[in-house]
Amino acid sequence: MEKIERKEKFCSICGKPFLPNKYRPNQEVCSSLECQYQRQLLNMKSWRETNPNYFKYKESQDKSWKQACRERSLDWRRKHKEYLQLYREANKDRHREYMRDYMRQYRKKKKGEEQEVPKAGV
Ligand SMILES: [Zn+2]
Repeated sequence: MEKIERKEKFCSICGKPFLPNKYRPNQEVCSSLECQYQRQLLNMKSWRETNPNYFKYKESQDKSWKQACRERSLDWRRKHKEYLQLYREANKDRHREYMRDYMRQYRKKKKGEEQEVPKAGV
């Protein structure tokens, strides 16, 4: 009489004996939810360990990109800081004058519009 023997194995996570699935004789982990979940985590971990550059690459790409942007704008500001300061300094008075002029013009224009009589049919 032939007996199909399924060898009892010990779960590599919880250590409890279990019978491997007949379709998956190499099963290392019992079928408890907890162990299957752990197995998935381990799979993910081992995958990351065998592909250590996958996430690092992505992270480093992101980081270097962000850093490059930040550095670029800092660099720009650093280069232009002096210039901007000089510009602001040089234009402080001019700007004040400009604003005064602008407001004068603006008021004049507003007044003019109010007083202007529409020239009808000339
Ligand atoms: Zn288990």
